[in-house]
Amino acid sequence: MLTNAQLSELKTLLVGERNRLDFSSREVRSFSRDRDKSRIGSDSIDESAAELVIGTHLRLADQDNDALKQVLRALDLIEKKSYGTCEDCQEPISWPRLRAFPATTLCIECKEDQEDALRLERELE
Ligand SMILES: [Zn+2]
Repeated sequence: MLTNAQLSELKTLLVGERNRLDFSSREVRSFSRDRDKSRIGSDSIDESAAELVIGTHLRLADQDNDALKQVLRALDLIEKKSYGTCEDCQEPISWPRLRAFPATTLCIECKEDQEDALRLERELE
């Protein structure tokens, strides 16, 4: 069981992470907006280079979005007082793991199982 002090420490970390991710996804959105405005007059080589840059940014934004979703989920679990329990096996997640990955909802064993399964899936493709 987590103490209140531990819980509030993790909550602080999660809120900081949420703000950071929220900011970076806003930044990417305004970046692609600015580009649309400056579109006129650019030649096609510039245009395809810009496409590449935007593509990379949007992919990163996607990853940030997933991370943001996880952070929001963890904050929600704190509110519901079910934070810190593995979603798979219902065992408590260890403090060092939560401290390192506050947004995690799986214990290390289940996380490793999940990664093994994903790896296996990729190898079979
Ligand atoms: Zn587990």
